Amino acid sequence: MAPQLPTHAQIVIIGGGIIGCSLAYHLTKLGRKDVLLLERKKLTSGTTWHAAGLVRAMLYTANLTKLAKYTVDLYKTLERETGQATGYKQNGSLSIATNEERWDELRRGASMARAFGVPAEQVTAKRVQELWPLMNTADLIGAIHFPEDGSTNPADTTMAFAKGARSGGARIVEDCKVTGVRTKNGRALGVQTEAGDVSAEIVVNCAGLWGREVGKMAGVDVPLHACEHFYIVTESMNVPSTLPVMRDMDACAYYKEDAGKLLVGAFEPKAKPWAVDGIPEDFCFTELPEDFDHFEPVLQGAIHRVPRLADTGIRKFFNGPESFTTDQRYLLGPSLELENFYVAAGFNSVGIQSAGGVGMALAHWIAEGHPPFDLWDVDSRRSMPHQNNKSFLIDRVSEALGLLYAMHWPYRQFETARGVRKTPLYERLKAHNACFGEVAGWERANWFAPKGVEPKYQYSFKRQNWFEYCGDECRATRTAVGLFDQSTFAKFIVRGPDAESVLQRICANDVGGAPGRAVYTQWLNERGGIEADLTVTRLADDAYMVVTAAATARRDLLWLKKHIPSEARAAVEDVTSAYAVLGVMGPNSRALLQKLTSADLSNAAFPFGTSREIEIAYARLRASRISYMGELGWELYVPAEFAVGVFDRILEEGSAHGLKLCGMHAMDSLRIEKAYRHWGHDIGEEDTPLEAGLGFVVAFDKKVPFIGRDALLNQKSQPRLTKRLVQFALEDPEPLLYHNEPIYRDGKLVGYTSSAAYGHALGRAVALGYVNAPEGVDQSYLDAGKFELEVACRRFPARASLRPLYDPRSERMRI
Ligand SMILES: Cc1cc2nc3c(=O)[nH]c(=O)nc-3n(C[C@H](O)[C@H](O)[C@H](O)COP(=O)(O)OP(=O)(O)OC[C@H]3O[C@@H](n4cnc5c(N)ncnc54)[C@H](O)[C@@H]3O)c2cc1C
Repeated sequence: MAPQLPTHAQIVIIGGGIIGCSLAYHLTKLGRKDVLLLERKKLTSGTTWHAAGLVRAMLYTANLTKLAKYTVDLYKTLERETGQATGYKQNGSLSIATNEERWDELRRGASMARAFGVPAEQVTAKRVQELWPLMNTADLIGAIHFPEDGSTNPADTTMAFAKGARSGGARIVEDCKVTGVRTKNGRALGVQTEAGDVSAEIVVNCAGLWGREVGKMAGVDVPLHACEHFYIVTESMNVPSTLPVMRDMDACAYYKEDAGKLLVGAFEPKAKPWAVDGIPEDFCFTELPEDFDHFEPVLQGAIHRVPRLADTGIRKFFNGPESFTTDQRYLLGPSLELENFYVAAGFNSVGIQSAGGVGMALAHWIAEGHPPFDLWDVDSRRSMPHQNNKSFLIDRVSEALGLLYAMHWPYRQFETARGVRKTPLYERLKAHNACFGEVAGWERANWFAPKGVEPKYQYSFKRQNWFEYCGDECRATRTAVGLFDQSTFAKFIVRGPDAESVLQRICANDVGGAPGRAVYTQWLNERGGIEADLTVTRLADDAYMVVTAAATARRDLLWLKKHIPSEARAAVEDVTSAYAVLGVMGPNSRALLQKLTSADLSNAAFPFGTSREIEIAYARLRASRISYMGELGWELYVPAEFAVGVFDRILEEGSAHGLKLCGMHAMDSLRIEKAYRHWGHDIGEEDTPLEAGLGFVVAFDKKVPFIGRDALLNQKSQPRLTKRLVQFALEDPEPLLYHNEPIYRDGKLVGYTSSAAYGHALGRAVALGYVNAPEGVDQSYLDAGKFELEVACRRFPARASLRPLYDPRSERMRI
């Protein structure tokens, strides 16, 4: 019999796995009772029912850890609260290291965990043996013990969420497949189902493996794909129920006690994408066929680690699908394409441990219109259309699964699905021995190898093989001139009689004035948080060019479109592919470019912060005198078909001026040395320009009040700022910083680093990071304390400064 459905619900959730049920539970906690959850078969019948149930309190970043920690705390009380058993137990977990590099990684992770408030302690092989008597510890270097980790029964925990949601007023309907999403004028209006239509104000896609399919119903990209995911369960080994979970990542395996037996799960390096031609209609509590050959290498490693497995039978060989994304992070939040349509899918094998926090965060996001804290790491608006391409997905997810347990090397690049987007200079850079990395599908030259050296990463937590090449690039930019391909910048043209008034409202800085001004600005939300960080150049009275980072292109474009009132006479166009961008940066840049143009490049004629069309070689292009590297220089916006010609001429002339081709790693090092902020790392929607030290680019007094002005004025009127972005430089030139290193002042934890690199001009590792102190953070507070940064469980003294340690008065760009 077809289920009875209401004709309307305020919020419709599609999917009754642990994520959908947790969301329903949390929405009712916020007083949203008119919630309807629709499940095509039975609750948990997708992926949730067969998960191993590992729950850990730490994930890759501070905010994901916040969500995981919330989950751990919730699972402790959920059973008591709902009266539904969850099987949750807090046995702790061990991550073991059998080589120095892994040990370095684990200790860096332990430092990070502590910075985020998750207890983590280094333990010896002897202690590991006590905690995990079955283990062969002969080859162990050490381990990290996380006492707060645990495990839960995924199906029972989902039922507890469902029970809590129902008693909070939500309706849960099984055996009711959503067959369509109704939309009008770019808004979700409700769903179509096998049992009739339901109108809704909000629709949420929690459809797990089916998330991409459900996204398609709404015209929304949800780039995820299923892979087969394996574990075995042994015959009884009388394993004590108190045994901690154990991860042996070098052997791609995890271990968990399971009713006296051992569950051994795999994160093999090359995964098997599943259901390439579509998920079978009758999928419900379905198990996939065994593949013993595929699992065998992991089993061999397991027998080495737990020798008793050699003579213990396997009771169950389990293979089930889980969805993976193109960057191993889940997709959460509002969709880019459709108003009132949200996503929570693609959980990359951490759905059980994330479910509590995800449900809480998404419920707040829906109820309040913004996330409870910065969730850009997992924000679904980071997706790019090419990522939803089937071939791209299949290639990439086969790598994504294994990367969860692979070494998390700094600067690690994906090996699959490469070469998707190339700048007009790609072949030229390749011929010059560039080593490429990928961002948003773009191939970007990260560094250049000298002639005769293969441009290939050799990863390490210590100095990698490109360290000195990058150093040469930085030195060339600081002392002569560097040439950077910055073509992957996103570029939007805003045109129309109302272009100025529209942008004045969105931009915190003043973008008025005569054509030819290039203005650095932020876009803020009503709370004063930074939504975007970009450059706005006035091209004409009625035209502007907005330039932003490749990674945030879609998000920033959406923000812009959303804030153009329907009655405004202004339109926006994405012209990213139409222009290459060449950054010519360094003290010799003027002399070099002056040789190639008849335009006057003197400081008087072409001052800092201005932009105009000039001729170089055979091209007419736009030159903007701005720099992300902190040196005299110009960004050249070259029509794509002219780019190679201009590049060749600059290179030809450049040899007389000490020009060097430079990559993105050099750019990053130079900008951190100059303390330039990077959106997504150092600044985000939770940080205001005042906290971020960007108050100098906020035009409080301009005629058009900008979005976020009131919140900023309010913050400005407070006696002190209790959170400030600070630059650090280690006293010791040896250790390297990457980000997420804890910051201590006089032995007390006050924050963690948000981005870091080795600064070749300063001759040491440099970082940015927020310092939090109720008494207020200013330079005298910094000077009065002794700062240390923690690297792999060791603390190193550091200088702390609110002004850039390199060229504090920004004189070098203005010569
Ligand atoms: C072998 C294995 C081990 C794992 N171990 C762990 C672990 O130890 N720890 C951990 O955190 N995670 C683990 N995971 C991952 C975890 O199981 C998932 O991340 C999690 O279950 C995802 O939950 P979900 O609600 O997003 O998806 P699902 O549980 O798949 O729920 C989605 C639901 O949506 C329904 N649906 C789809 N389309 C429609 C439609 N059109 N209309 C209505 N309903 C629809 C489906 O029927 C399904 O029930 C493991 C996964 C596997 C495969």
